[in-house]
Parts: sequence; C-alpha cells; structure tokens
Amino acid sequence: MKHVNVLVVGGGIAGASVGYFLAPTHRVLVVERESGYGYHTSGRSAAEWTACHFDGLMRAIVLYGRPFMDAPPPGFSALPLLQKRGNLMIALDGGESDADAFYAQAAPDNPLLVPYTDAQIRAVAPYLRTALIRRAFWDPENAEIDVDALHQGFLRGLRAADGETRSNVEFHGAERRDGVWHARIAKETVTAEIIVDAAGAWGDTVAERCAVPPLGLEPRRRTAFTFDPGFDATGVPPIDEMASGFYFKGSGPVLMVSPGDQTPSVPCDAQPEEYDLAVAVDHLETLTTLRVDRMKARWAGLRTFTRDEHPVAGFDRHVDGFFWLVGQGGGGIMSASGLGDLAARIIAGRALPESAAALGLTVERLSPRRLAAAI
Ligand SMILES: Cc1cc2nc3c(=O)[nH]c(=O)nc-3n(C[C@H](O)[C@H](O)[C@H](O)COP(=O)(O)OP(=O)(O)OC[C@H]3O[C@@H](n4cnc5c(N)ncnc54)[C@H](O)[C@@H]3O)c2cc1C
Repeated sequence: MKHVNVLVVGGGIAGASVGYFLAPTHRVLVVERESGYGYHTSGRSAAEWTACHFDGLMRAIVLYGRPFMDAPPPGFSALPLLQKRGNLMIALDGGESDADAFYAQAAPDNPLLVPYTDAQIRAVAPYLRTALIRRAFWDPENAEIDVDALHQGFLRGLRAADGETRSNVEFHGAERRDGVWHARIAKETVTAEIIVDAAGAWGDTVAERCAVPPLGLEPRRRTAFTFDPGFDATGVPPIDEMASGFYFKGSGPVLMVSPGDQTPSVPCDAQPEEYDLAVAVDHLETLTTLRVDRMKARWAGLRTFTRDEHPVAGFDRHVDGFFWLVGQGGGGIMSASGLGDLAARIIAGRALPESAAALGLTVERLSPRRLAAAI
C-alpha cells in the first residue's frame, strides 16, 4: 500500500501551491479528478493581482505572497508572473457616496490610489462614456497574472522535489485509524498522515467523505465572455463599475467582460447563463461606445466563500490530520503564493516568518476555528 505524508485533494492552484511548498520536506501526493489541473475555477479566472480590492486577512495574504510573484525562485517560470496594467474603478449616478467611502478607507493603505479626471479616463479608455461617470479612481499597482505559468510552475516544482501528481483520479473518501488516514483514490488505497482539502467548490463534499463536519462553504457562479472590440485590446487594464461588480479588461488581443454576478450554486462544472451574459452586454454597451457583435468565448466558474469571506488554512478542530485550504473566493490566484506557503508552514509545524507576523498573519487567524462562532 502506498504511503505519503500528505495527500492533497484537488490539483487547482490551491492544491498545486501547497504541494509545491511541502514537497521539499514531505512525501506529497496531489490527486485531481479532472484530466486538466486548471479545468475548474483556476482555469476560469480574470488573472488579476490587486491589493486594493481586499482588506483584512485576504489583503495580508496577498501582500505576503507578493515577493514570490515578483521574484519566483530560479527556474520556476521562464516568463514574469506579473505585468502591471493598472485598474480604473468608476462609479455612476447614485454610487458617489459608496465610492467616496471606498476611497477614504482604501487610500491610506494604497497611497498610489488616486482620483482620475475625465481627461485621464479618456486616455485609458477613449470609448468610455465619461458623461455617466461620477467618480473614478486609478490603482497603478494592479497587475495581470500569468496564471498558467504560476500553476505549471507549482506543479513542475512539486514534481522536481519528488512530489507526485495524478490527474483523472477521484478521491472517494477516507477513514482515520491509529493516527493514519486510509484514503480511497480511484481503485487504490493510500495511507497518509495528513489530508489537505484543496477541493475548491467541493471543499465541504471532501470533508464529508472524511466524516469531517462541513464549514458551510458557498460556491458562487461568476460569468465571463470575450469578444473582438475591433482594436487590439492587449494591455487594456481592468475597468470596474464599483456598485454592480461589472468589469471588462484586455485578455490578449480581445476584451473579457463579466457582469460581476455571484449566484449561489451547488459544486458543479459551472456554465454561463444567457441572462448573465445579456446583463454583461447591456452594461458594456451602456457604459461604452463598443458593440458586441459576436462572443468569442463564454464561461462561468465558481468562486467559493467561507462565512466571513476570507480564506481558511488550518487543521480541523474536530478531526485530527484534516487540513482545510479553502474559501479563496475571488482571489485564489493572486493569494496562492502566500497562502500555499503559509499552509505548508502550518502543516509542517513551522513558525510563521516575521514578514507574515508584520502583516498580522497568525495561525489562529487563518484557522477554521475563527468560523466556529458562525457554525
Ligand atoms: C470569472 C472568475 C474570475 C476570477 N478572477 C480572479 C482574479 O482575477 N484573480 C484571482 O486571484 N482570482 C480570481 N478568481 C478566483 C480564483 O479563480 C479561485 O479563487 C481559485 O481558482 C480557486 O482555486 P482552487 O484550487 O481552490 O479551486 P479549483 O481550481 O476549482 O480546484 C479545485 C479542484 O479540486 C478538484 N476536486 C474536487 N473534488 C475532488 C475529488 N473528490 N477528488 C479529486 N479532485 C477533486 C476539482 O476537480 C478542482 O480541479 C476568479 C474566479 C472566477 C470564476
């Protein structure tokens, strides 16, 4: 029977990152049900890095992982992981006071965040109808993540450190006996001291398969499409309408558009709904002079949230050896380098470094115990 120290369930960006940081010191096996590691949410994101969209715990995790994104270890990726694009946030009629409140709260922590004039807005996106815009802010720090380079870098590094990854392998469940998990994967039983639940939208399902009480995770569907705007959209920064969550941005030479929906969903292979696509087209055509003649691609993905909407990286409080790495919501790509590192340190029983403490990151804050009051 195969034995590993850590069995990671889920080969998305969360499972790949924790596996990467653990593999040099632990025998690690990552199992992924699909044939592609990025088949679910990790392959469906908008690839944005931003500190200014988050506060509290998520912001601290994202900032903690930033040095890795700027300068990954040699050989991790042939391409830079981040390219600065900036981010224009706009508010329409009725959204002024919320936008002002956002700026008052975010500006002290994000000193480069500045209000923008109509002329500055037009310089970023000449097709925006500035007459509709009541407030605009520019965050120059927002960057585009090379998601594939990041995900593949984690998987490659994990394997180079003798970690194992298996796709097309479903985790069916596990029992804990004498301090060891007996896990059923595909047609095999594997033993492991620790199971890491990095199953994204299926986080609670995997827990239940281990007789661990669920955390009450909520997957929420978010929709997107791309279209050819008639010009080369390479480098168009994300442009967000603050009240609705609607945004669009360059995605290679085409534009990616999302209505900013967040409809609760069961864990599934999420598909776009016609209604959400229509809302996105309507927003775009109202806010800009652009027209959507034909969509090139359309998709939806599940962003999965805990009850306090911040991620969890910690051991379960009821069942030994079960580690939660879930609830990354809309920031699982940008937080992966920080969260994967923190999770690996907690699993290994290593202290969190000074740079984490300086951002207020502690084992207790990351632990699912903080949600206990809400359960
Ligand atoms: C439209 C959209 C835009 C987004 N934009 C951004 C963005 O700009 N920046 C950002 O940082 N984040 C963004 N996100 C969020 C980000 O994509 C997620 O937070 C992140 O991908 C979650 O990663 P994960 O590994 O937890 O989940 P997943 O990628 O879903 O991975 C979980 C994996 O577990 C596997 N699994 C589940 N159950 C089992 C089982 N029993 N056995 C084996 N395998 C199993 C699944 O097959 C799946 O592949 C966006 C998301 C969406 C949908």
